[in-house]
Amino acid sequence: MSVSTLATAPSVCAPLPVLGRDVTVPLVTGGEVTYAALDYAASAPALQRVWDDVAAYAPYYGSVHRGAGYLSQLSTDLFENARRTVAEFLDCRGGDQVVFTRSTTDSLNLLAAALPAGCQVFVFETEHHAALLPWRDARVTVLDAPRGPRQAVETLERALAERDPHGPALVCVTGASNVTGELWPVRELAAAAHAQGARIVLDAAQLAPHHPVSVKDLDVDWVAFSGHKLYAPFGTGVLAGRADWLRAAEPYLAGGGASRKVTRRTDGGVDVQWHDSAARHEAGSPNVIGAYAVASACKALTEAGFDTLVAREQYLVAKVREGLADVPQVRFLSLFGDDAPRVGVLSFVVEGWNSSHFAAALSAEYGIGVRDGLFCAHPLVRTLLGSDPQTQGECGAPEAAPGEKSLNAIRVSFGAGT
Ligand code: PLP
Repeated sequence: MSVSTLATAPSVCAPLPVLGRDVTVPLVTGGEVTYAALDYAASAPALQRVWDDVAAYAPYYGSVHRGAGYLSQLSTDLFENARRTVAEFLDCRGGDQVVFTRSTTDSLNLLAAALPAGCQVFVFETEHHAALLPWRDARVTVLDAPRGPRQAVETLERALAERDPHGPALVCVTGASNVTGELWPVRELAAAAHAQGARIVLDAAQLAPHHPVSVKDLDVDWVAFSGHKLYAPFGTGVLAGRADWLRAAEPYLAGGGASRKVTRRTDGGVDVQWHDSAARHEAGSPNVIGAYAVASACKALTEAGFDTLVAREQYLVAKVREGLADVPQVRFLSLFGDDAPRVGVLSFVVEGWNSSHFAAALSAEYGIGVRDGLFCAHPLVRTLLGSDPQTQGECGAPEAAPGEKSLNAIRVSFGAGT
């Protein structure tokens, strides 16, 4: 596969303008080539439209919620409008809250901090660490990797049937895997959770940039995603969904903005009344530009139309498969089968090759930026590689020697700008 192959994708699904499309990078062989960013699953370059929107607003930004000045008022409006835009983008229910966070990781940690006492959490071992690890103060049941969407639902049903039916429970599941790109049966998992009185949070970090996400239609209780994977710059995430647990919880951070009234007690301490709105979990001066950028990205994607974006990504996925089909050493990683529906994310190993060397060579010799490693989903990648957790590398550890079984994988991922 060459960069020029990618450039000849059908015009029916032309790429959207993104930052850095024309960046040239040096090659070890001498000369330069236009960089091919194929690591959208890690961070997508910002859409030019988002950048332009932010640049147009930047001279006018001011503090929100606190200032009487014109620019403060303007910024407050834009910030709260951004919240409404995100709610529309996610097709939220009336009464749902949209909390701006720093990232998906932050959103899921916020929800973990807001769990009611005694909450049991159910999570598949296949999750990204952002969804697998935040539940430290809860009773966590880690479910084995299913080998198909149906098995995923059955595994969850069995686990939930054995739980204490009186206590609160939460299921956390990804919409699309950051390793295989495979789509998870979110609607069915939500139905299974609700049938057993549990709630469900959708990790949409990889789904939202590629597919419409409807809270109502999927019937999930919360959705989390990251702005930097949705063609906005770094620094902003979203947790959207039911208000009750969020309202009942202690604020994620304590401070100004989250507090409605603070009074001095006669014993010398302070009493605080916290906001009931999303502001409860947004203490401190919020990332107004970040929220504005996320909202701009939501609008841009909606206007571009997901059908168009999906068609282009599927074309590119097929092209990579086709290009690598003649290389017998290439093994694609999949949990649900090679033909399972997926977003524009593919991982593979080249048997006999060190994945890190392979990825480095793609960069140095061809200017193609991919990712290698365990993709912050160590249990899943180990399962897919069939490797031993005791001997397999950890983040940053050396890879297997050439010719030995690979300990890491290579990931190629596409998006609106590829
Ligand atoms: N969930 C999934 C499926 C991801 O792919 C990622 C990032 O790669 C995350 C969560 C965490 O996102 P962030 O690093 O933006 O918090």
